[in-house]
Amino acid sequence: MMGWQIEHASLFYEFNLEDRVPAGHLLRRIDEVLDLSFVRRHMASHYSVTGRPSIDPELMVRMLLIGYLFGIRSERRLCEEVDLNLAYRWFCRLDLAGKVPDHSTFTKNRHGRFRESDLMRTVFEMTVEQCLAAGTASTTHVAVDGSHMRASAAQDRCVASVTDLPSADRASRAVREYLSDLDQASPDLEGVRRSAAKRVSLTDPAAALSRKHGKARFAYGMNALIDTGSGMVLGVQAAPERFADEPEAARRMLERLRVRHDAVPQVLTADKAYGSGPFLAWIEERGIEAHVPVIDRTHQTAGRMTHADFGYDKEGDQYLCPQGKPLRRVGDASGEARRSGTTAYRSRASDCKGCPIKARCTTSSTRAISRSLHQDVRVTVQARQATEAFERSLRLRKRVERLFACVKHNDGLHRLRLRSLRGADEQFVLAAAAQNLKRMTKLLPADGPRTRTAAA
Ligand code: SF4
Repeated sequence: MMGWQIEHASLFYEFNLEDRVPAGHLLRRIDEVLDLSFVRRHMASHYSVTGRPSIDPELMVRMLLIGYLFGIRSERRLCEEVDLNLAYRWFCRLDLAGKVPDHSTFTKNRHGRFRESDLMRTVFEMTVEQCLAAGTASTTHVAVDGSHMRASAAQDRCVASVTDLPSADRASRAVREYLSDLDQASPDLEGVRRSAAKRVSLTDPAAALSRKHGKARFAYGMNALIDTGSGMVLGVQAAPERFADEPEAARRMLERLRVRHDAVPQVLTADKAYGSGPFLAWIEERGIEAHVPVIDRTHQTAGRMTHADFGYDKEGDQYLCPQGKPLRRVGDASGEARRSGTTAYRSRASDCKGCPIKARCTTSSTRAISRSLHQDVRVTVQARQATEAFERSLRLRKRVERLFACVKHNDGLHRLRLRSLRGADEQFVLAAAAQNLKRMTKLLPADGPRTRTAAA
């Protein structure tokens, strides 16, 4: 017999939100591993003890995590989705009558107490702490890399230099933040103008103009440090998308790992962008074995004899050319060398005059060779490149690229929504926290012990 839809809804019925969320639902599995009990404690000093009760900060964190877990980019849409979706309501501890906050609440809190308290990074660090405590992540073998994330800034809305930006009283929030950061870093705006990028965005001046797939775009770099074994994200850091900023971001992540989690990796693997002498020396000084291809430009000599044709005499601190003539160090070893990171060695014009192989050596009257201040470290790391462990490390490094693919394509970070370096950092830490939570649901056994460690 054909049935029909009941015309009149019941006046009373039983309803339990708990029963509407399936056992295997992602949010239910995440809820088992997520511990946000620290949030209210962490935020207590940022709220007044009098007045009307605010929106619960834990509710806002739960809603934001839903946004990153399900790729909901807009906070206005996030509020609509939480209002409509029963599983989202359950995860946010909202019953059917529970009021969903207005989307503007997120903006107000973001620029106020959330940033002052560094809440989003604390949420991320909590996932790392839980993983390390539960033994699902390790800091023994780590990989670091950066990825281009397009900023929310039109390419044609830019000025030629920092000094062309509008003054703080007429500028947008992103410009004001940028100018304030510059002021703190250096009161000499003229100096900054000389050294700064050729084009500065009017909408998001902290983003760097960088080229990707043949197109120049304003972008930030998402830098991530991962455990190559489990794929868990151990560190994340936003930086303007510039080749030179990646090693600095890696330093900050490793330092944070040491300070916050008392952990120093045994092996670090990365691509050639991290293969500069100063960064390799910094890594090795901390007892970390660098499995990184060394940046080596000594063979770029336009067809003439290379660095390898000259032997270094450590005792005499000089090079010897194939004709046995010395190339002695020139200039002050401390001043200029510190600035350039290299020491220069030069032959004598009288030695080179009449040399039978001069045409293969130099077009000048003398031959110069530069030596990195970290040459010994470079040689040590270069020697590792032939080992099987190094090869294996480079294969494991690719896991970090999977993370970038996930946050771009699943979490909606192919183009950033929030402006300024702080906005980019917030998006990266929350995306990394969401990735960690997803991974924790897979790594922890369904009925096994789940370690919950409240963050300080
Ligand atoms: S040109 Fe000068 S430095 Fe070069 S091989 Fe001849 S003597 Fe040596």
